[in-house]
Amino acid sequence: MDLDSFFVSVSCLMNPKLKGKPVLIGGTSDRGVVSSCSYEARAFGVHSAMPMKLARRLCPDAIVVRGDYEKYSHYSDVVTDIIGESVPLYEKSSIDEFYIDLTGMDKFFGCYKWATELRHKITKETGLPISFGMSGNKTVSK
Ligand SMILES: [Mg+2]
Repeated sequence: MDLDSFFVSVSCLMNPKLKGKPVLIGGTSDRGVVSSCSYEARAFGVHSAMPMKLARRLCPDAIVVRGDYEKYSHYSDVVTDIIGESVPLYEKSSIDEFYIDLTGMDKFFGCYKWATELRHKITKETGLPISFGMSGNKTVSK
């Protein structure tokens, strides 16, 4: 499971005016880089790890937001708690990515239905959109 443009989503929770706008998260100086950007900004060819200077040139109307990494960490912990209390085995591979082992569960539940319900639960409880990929191994799921 991977939280959708996680830093942007958290920033939108903090400031709903950012919703639907091109948003760049990262260092605001000329030497900074984009750590995350909204889908609206991606439409201009902006992507994460791009120099902020170039991103602003590609998308001059973008709103630049300084990252609040304490907030991101907090919301990541909230999502981790929801996953941790819902599944027997998981791995947190980054601040916004989780691998969940559903081995054996298809005997009792429809795994796709179950994962969809977990996805909805996370979004309902936190306000953060999250996606999942399901397969027989981690690489294909990612
Ligand atoms: Mg993500």
